[in-house]
Amino acid sequence: MVDRYKPGEIEDKWHKKWEADGLYSVDLDDDRDHFYFLTMLPYTSGDLHVGHWYAMAPSDAAARCKRMHGKRVFFPIGFDAFGLPAENAAIKRGIHPRKWTYDNVDRMRGQLKSMGAMFDWPHEAITADPEFYRWNQWFFVKMFEKGLAYRKQAPANWCPSCQTVLANEQVLPDGTCERCHTAVVQRDLEQWFFRIRNYADELLDFSHMEWPERVMTMQRNWIGRSEGLAIDFGLDVAGVEEKAIRVFTTRPDTIFGVTSMVVAPEHPLVPRITTPDRKAEVEAYIDQARRQTEIERLSTEREKTGVFTGAYCKNLLSGEDVPIWIADYALLWYGTGAVMGVPAHDQRDFEFTRQMGLDCPVVIAPPDWDGKPLEEAYVEPGTMVNSGQFDGLPSEDGKKAVSDYVEKQGWGKRTITYRIRDWLISRQRYWGTPIPMVHCPQDGEVPVPEDQLPVLLPDDAQFKPTGESPLASHAAFLNTACPKCGGLARRETDTMDTFMDSNWYFMRYLSPNYDKGPFRPDVAASWAPVDQYTGGAEHAVMHLLYARFFWKVMRDLGLVKGDEPFKRLFNQGQILGPDGQRMSKSRGNVVAPDEQVQQYGADVFRCYLMFIGPWDEGGPIRLDGMSGVERWLNRVWNVSQEAPVFGGEDEAAIRDLRRLTHKTIRKVTEDTEDYRWNTAIAALMEMTNGLYAAREAGAIDRAAWDEATRSLLLMTAPLAPHIAEELWERAGGPYSIHQQSWPVWDAELAREDEVTLVVQVDGKVRDRIQVPAGIAEAAAKETAMESPHVKRYVEGQQIRRVIYVPGKLVNIVLG
Ligand SMILES: [Zn+2]
Ligand SMILES: [Zn+2]
Repeated sequence: MVDRYKPGEIEDKWHKKWEADGLYSVDLDDDRDHFYFLTMLPYTSGDLHVGHWYAMAPSDAAARCKRMHGKRVFFPIGFDAFGLPAENAAIKRGIHPRKWTYDNVDRMRGQLKSMGAMFDWPHEAITADPEFYRWNQWFFVKMFEKGLAYRKQAPANWCPSCQTVLANEQVLPDGTCERCHTAVVQRDLEQWFFRIRNYADELLDFSHMEWPERVMTMQRNWIGRSEGLAIDFGLDVAGVEEKAIRVFTTRPDTIFGVTSMVVAPEHPLVPRITTPDRKAEVEAYIDQARRQTEIERLSTEREKTGVFTGAYCKNLLSGEDVPIWIADYALLWYGTGAVMGVPAHDQRDFEFTRQMGLDCPVVIAPPDWDGKPLEEAYVEPGTMVNSGQFDGLPSEDGKKAVSDYVEKQGWGKRTITYRIRDWLISRQRYWGTPIPMVHCPQDGEVPVPEDQLPVLLPDDAQFKPTGESPLASHAAFLNTACPKCGGLARRETDTMDTFMDSNWYFMRYLSPNYDKGPFRPDVAASWAPVDQYTGGAEHAVMHLLYARFFWKVMRDLGLVKGDEPFKRLFNQGQILGPDGQRMSKSRGNVVAPDEQVQQYGADVFRCYLMFIGPWDEGGPIRLDGMSGVERWLNRVWNVSQEAPVFGGEDEAAIRDLRRLTHKTIRKVTEDTEDYRWNTAIAALMEMTNGLYAAREAGAIDRAAWDEATRSLLLMTAPLAPHIAEELWERAGGPYSIHQQSWPVWDAELAREDEVTLVVQVDGKVRDRIQVPAGIAEAAAKETAMESPHVKRYVEGQQIRRVIYVPGKLVNIVLG
């Protein structure tokens, strides 16, 4: 009898040995067969949770498979260590964010190691280390010098509770802060931006990458490119210098249907064109609009609101006067800050107009239009009507003709607009990378010279939120000498958005101790870009878009080659609590991985997570399912050590066993290549059962048995690395199983034997069909019924019964 499978003992033993041997360290100076496998780095939020395991354990299995297929796989890990949660947690607990963060790093490192993943620990990077954020600052200066970083006064999403600016992406659709769910308000601040808009067109090119369609669609929508016409409406208001309001439209064919001009409440014309009698109402409206977030203002679910300014502009094409309104769905920073209201051909304008009892002239006729008023807005293409010289033109031709005419008259021009705005990277908080700029009364904005980087984040700043950057009240930090003139100057006190860290952390992994640049150029040239990236789909428009932008910036700085940072992307699904709900402390459905590892071992927990369903779907974690996986690994443990009686010479038995082996290799190879872990594990379970059955059936050929158990262990190795290593060693295999090649299947051996099935109808032979030996009765009958030669005799007839002689005969008896 063999000893019992004790995961705790063997897992600990192998962790130590692997680490001592540097088994998973790759020499990056050698770029042969390189493969960069990256999983998103964890935030240093405390304990590693099931979501981390679900992202990382299957990623580890995939990286291990690649390695067994002959690639030299680099699989690094690090910690995303700056940012608000650390600061908020530190404030709550009365400790320093640095302590809270680095304590968490220590704990999480241990938890990550318990997973048994092949992380390349010597290449770890922590984004809160000065050695790391120094290069954030270096990049910032480079971008400033290139005109890609700039400062301007801008309205920002402000969370009154977190006391910080939030990116648009950090405001939830209901207009609240994603971290604390407080209603977000707008505030004007001097802030730093990156010119991501300069790269908008390039970011719409997804041709160099294999990414989930869903993520690319989200990025496309977020960038929001639209082609159209910028056109002037005449303005003639006493005392107002401007003689036109410019508006952008994607539907120049509807210009004759404009019944209102809607400008953003912040539009600079508003205070000057508003008539005295409308002033009070307009100001009240502006007040409430400023309390809305952009997300709320753009929400299509809200009813449109607005107020009349009392002023009019002129539709230069129709010559009609058009009332000027303000409404919060017009955004100053999107398009031109003005929108034309065309009620007949825009559903929201239609409803608004109907509510107000206003005119709704049809200018695009739907097919077969009877000339009557519309029941709802007609937004499809049609034929231009009530449009003067353009009447009769189909929409597409009309757009072109109107645009040509407007350009010829000098009233406007064809334009492309984008929804995406420049990336606001200023944060008025403490725990982040200080922006390396100095404000000099003489020289203006002066970057900190490269040899003075990093600008260190002082440990002794008062970081409690006040609405101002904490660094502004730290005199020793704030007051400095201007690098240009040497005079008294003030340091910039904002810190950087932490998405700056995730822009390029994967490049730092390549040479984490390098101090002559952000990364070693030669290693970057051979190992980047990342071949496979895995992580959560929630990063579709923030991290994953910013990192693409930043890669292009690095390319333009001559630091990297190629256009994209991540060739392939895989998004795992979300793991839910046992009740099928999102895990949360308040629901009490949180499953702590440490406890599972304690009870079952890391191998069982890893395999269980991979077995619950397709990886990209996720699903509830049902702990009763753990025992099934545990049973399987116990069976692997036993069957690979308890040898059968050798010496079996039965050719058919040998053939069956080898078929099982090679069939399983084929199946598991294909499944693991596509990350179908659940079906791969199911196939391995089936193979394990097959080995038990073969052993019980009598004496077995030794070579066939060894081939089978050896293959089983090799295929189990990426999924359950500890038990596979232990059993491999016990079987006398060369150290380490994780340095062996993936088993190869033989198509001939994997092939099912075939037999000839005779099909009779009422005792007369009507067909002979080749079927796999051992075909199940139901499948055999079904195959027989589907034969065209049989169908002819059976169709329309009553079938009394079907007789089956296994592997030989199907007789269909008609009644
Ligand atoms: Zn908040
Ligand atoms: Zn100066």
